[in-house]
Amino acid sequence: MNRRAKIVATLGPASADKRVLRRLLKAGVDVVRLNLSHGTHDEHRRNLQRVRRLSTQAGLHIPVILDLMGPRYRLGHLPAPVTLRRGTLVSLGLEGEASDLVVDDRQLIDALKPRDRILVDNGLVELRVEGKANGRVTAKVKTAGKVDSRKGINLPDSDLPFTISAKDEADIRFAVDIDADYLAASYVGAAEDIDALRRSVLAAGGKIPLIAKLERALAVANLEDLIASADAVMVARGDLGVEVPLHKVPILQKRIISAGRRHGKPVIVATQMLESMMERKRPTRAESSDVANAVFDGADALMLSGESAIGRHPVDAVRTMGRIISEAERYARTIDKNEHSVGRLADVDLFAPFEDSDGGGSRTIAFRIADTIAAAAVHATHTLGLRHVVAFSQGGFTARVISRYRPAAPIWMLTTMESVARRVQLAWGVRPLLLDDDVQHHDEVISRVDSELLRHGLAKPGDAIAVLMGDPIRERPMTNLLRLHRIRALKSG
Ligand code: PEP
Repeated sequence: MNRRAKIVATLGPASADKRVLRRLLKAGVDVVRLNLSHGTHDEHRRNLQRVRRLSTQAGLHIPVILDLMGPRYRLGHLPAPVTLRRGTLVSLGLEGEASDLVVDDRQLIDALKPRDRILVDNGLVELRVEGKANGRVTAKVKTAGKVDSRKGINLPDSDLPFTISAKDEADIRFAVDIDADYLAASYVGAAEDIDALRRSVLAAGGKIPLIAKLERALAVANLEDLIASADAVMVARGDLGVEVPLHKVPILQKRIISAGRRHGKPVIVATQMLESMMERKRPTRAESSDVANAVFDGADALMLSGESAIGRHPVDAVRTMGRIISEAERYARTIDKNEHSVGRLADVDLFAPFEDSDGGGSRTIAFRIADTIAAAAVHATHTLGLRHVVAFSQGGFTARVISRYRPAAPIWMLTTMESVARRVQLAWGVRPLLLDDDVQHHDEVISRVDSELLRHGLAKPGDAIAVLMGDPIRERPMTNLLRLHRIRALKSG
């Protein structure tokens, strides 16, 4: 598989069946997402087990992201749909009180202040707060429309505190129980929200990496801190496009991807990438350009939501996305052939110090050493014409920092841990190779790298490669060693 940017596919009624799932994997899905806003724990458990079983059969390592619902605010029960006319005043109160519109959360009422916008149903209806009295909000209708029970509410001007709902707590325990590979954190606004979720995961007895979904105006304001505290990020363009003006979304996509690469954290671009393929076999020209431009922006992964979950052509959507990505990457390589990186289009100053939250502590120094070695290895792929960059890694960190330099040479990660082999798939260009027994010495790592690349037909004797590892191996330090060498032929017998 020559494609470097990864494809995340959301499973749903259109794709959970084992025949469709098998075809999806064959078509090139690298990562699966299960959306906890829909479906039962039993369904998600079965889907995760099916993904694990079918990917093992296909010789693949496919991680599963469980996407938490998050503190999503909604209208309460309305006896009938309400038509809101522009310029009129409406009252908003708690359920059980006589108001035009009701909500089921007091926090929402408390957080609103004059001039705040209230966006209902994906921003189709907009209200603006005029005042508050006796626990009830009065708002003016700015964009007219009809609203109904349970429609989603976004409050882009308020900094409502993030809370972990009872549902999210139960979903976190479930994710730990089924050994999910990632948790996607919806509606986080600040680094502390990621910290709170991490504590919840720990309390449930697990250690699942967290993907911060950038979908609130507040999250954009706290972008750097949020990325520093998360393990990966998602440009969740659906809600983001409601919370910030739509014309800002393309620029935010570029800013978030650049920040992710500076921090060495994978970035997923999500939502409506091939939306029209929910119904049709071919995407629109605009969608094809959108997928290619996400590649040019430097995204690690591109996500399908409804297209693969409930659309009519899930397998075609994956194939189409794969073809567009490959073509965009071919183009990026041709115009970039004088550079060692295929990611130059994204214009990221990667040679600035590696950004880390530990402000110069020993972890930061270890990170910077690993990052410096990764940069040197990628530089060597250009100056010495190396054919492969291989990280021997027990956590996936080194593979991720190699990935942030977007080398033209393939990136392999050798690991003895199945869970790490799965998780690293989210990073641009990284492909895992799983060892079934442990390695004790750096010479042994080199000979295993050679034999694995040869055994899988990925390289031939004499190919020049870079191998990165932490030495002494037994102490599992962060990467501190770079070896450049030529692959030796396997000894016969
Ligand atoms: C989004 O808002 O773009 C998104 C990916 O989140 P969800 O699908 O959970 O709404």
